[in-house]
Amino acid sequence: MRILLVEDDELLGSGLNDALERAHYAHEWVRDGRSALRAATSSEFDLIILDLGLPQLDGMEVLKQIRARGKPTPVLVLSARDATRDRIRGLNAGADDYLVKPFDLDELLARVHAIERRRSGVATNVVRRGKLELDLAAMAVTCAGAPVSLQRREFMLLKKLIENPNQVFSRGQLEESIYGWGSDVESNTIDVHVHHLRRKLYPEVIRTVRGVGYRIDPL
Ligand code: CA
Repeated sequence: MRILLVEDDELLGSGLNDALERAHYAHEWVRDGRSALRAATSSEFDLIILDLGLPQLDGMEVLKQIRARGKPTPVLVLSARDATRDRIRGLNAGADDYLVKPFDLDELLARVHAIERRRSGVATNVVRRGKLELDLAAMAVTCAGAPVSLQRREFMLLKKLIENPNQVFSRGQLEESIYGWGSDVESNTIDVHVHHLRRKLYPEVIRTVRGVGYRIDPL
């Protein structure tokens, strides 16, 4: 899951940035409304965490413009405004959830997990496919009931494929989803992760679609 974090407060922003990093989410951090709008409309994100009080363009305006351009990306609004009226305005403008500052980082992560689950249509933290079972909260994988130890990026890659079992992904799409947009990664990085996943799980777990990219075992 790729997250766009929009927060102009350096201290809070870096706290959130670190929390997302620790939770292994690919994410970008921008600090003003215009950059937020540009990022949200030019690149694909699975969630936007949006502060309302922002320089250049107010968060509520960013949200309205994102929705006006037909972007369905879930938005979690962060706000110091706790008046019910503001909360209703935010939800009416297309926010999916709302957190009033100050909030607990664990609560924010729980909300992010919940939005992620709703997005992928699963009601629990566990995703199953064939003999694989992924616990998204614990970042644990079992294959035919046996626990398998995966590196963080391997887990993220497997999760991306398992959540979209009917889709073939190009190397570029997979890179973007697990490293974040514009990251400088080696050209064969995805192939290396796929190689490790096949060795640790089973050889056909990820199928190569010649000339296109990869997909999860169609079973
Ligand atoms: Ca602010």
